Amino acid sequence: MIVIMKADATMKQKSAVIARAESLGFKIHLSDGKERTIIGLIGDDRDLYKDQIERMPGVERLVPVLKPFKVASREFQPDDTTFKIGDIEIGGKELVIMAGPCSVESRSQIIETAWAVKEAGAHILRGGAFKPRSSPYAFQGLGEEGLKYMAEAREETGLPIITEVMEPALVPLVAEYSDILQIGARNMQNYALLHAVGKSQAPVLLKRGMSSLIEEWLMCAEYILSHGNTRVMLCERGIRTFETYTRNTFDINAIAVAKQLSHLPVIADPSHATGRWEYVAPAAKASVAAGADGLIIEVHPRPDEAMSDGLQSLKPEKFAQLVVDMRRVAEAVDREIP
Ligand code: PEP
Ligand code: MN
Repeated sequence: MIVIMKADATMKQKSAVIARAESLGFKIHLSDGKERTIIGLIGDDRDLYKDQIERMPGVERLVPVLKPFKVASREFQPDDTTFKIGDIEIGGKELVIMAGPCSVESRSQIIETAWAVKEAGAHILRGGAFKPRSSPYAFQGLGEEGLKYMAEAREETGLPIITEVMEPALVPLVAEYSDILQIGARNMQNYALLHAVGKSQAPVLLKRGMSSLIEEWLMCAEYILSHGNTRVMLCERGIRTFETYTRNTFDINAIAVAKQLSHLPVIADPSHATGRWEYVAPAAKASVAAGADGLIIEVHPRPDEAMSDGLQSLKPEKFAQLVVDMRRVAEAVDREIP
């Protein structure tokens, strides 16, 4: 349920509504928009007697949120969510570029790549330390050692870092090192993990599951948001279809749909969406045109030697050219890539 306050409602009236809602057992999500204030009531509202709130001074009306995802929905919060990672604003007019290798392979590899992507214009360094691999015999990542190398790369370059966390018990450890927690496609519906990252209050990038509906993806974001963790980004990374020339099928529609249904920032991952470096640039530029708030792109100094996802990794020079090209697309849709 959302409470729409009158345009001229006073602070005192808003506080009184919040206090009443809290006394009725709701958690509050306050959206102090440009036009008016919307007070979101989080919790079971089936027994709410509407008059208890609707008759209060300053209240215009109470509106039920009909979508199954509540806090994630645009009805709940009409304005885009924006938040900062260090000096970088996510979800505003400026797009954020995250780049780096699929996996952290060594100290020198991640530091070399960090400098290269920074020079090319990336704002955030990516790199997996705990890797979700299809085969148990494949490289599983360096674990905590990899997190340490990521933190060193941040120290040297000043780039904030993003890395994947795969199990609830490891959330505190990964959050200690990383600026953003990545939930991988395979773990999108790992509810224990979603609760854990929600409770951690750390910024989260939630990848769409490879066979997930947009609604299921938003419901998973809702798990994180239900803990009052509002720093959530959605990430479209391609879905499984019958096509085999590409690793996945990039659901460009999902970017526009998610932006319409939700106020959360939407990030595109053209690397996993295509699986082939040749198609990464076209998919990346299309994402910018479609309204993505940022991108996450795999870059490796020597893709032939990569321990994972070499086929879809861009060499630093190709990535640098892509950033230049994306800037022009961004300008055409009234956005900027700083
Ligand atoms: C990754 O980012 O390297 C990764 C494993 O991505 P996804 O979860 O989208 O497959
Ligand atoms: Mn990868």
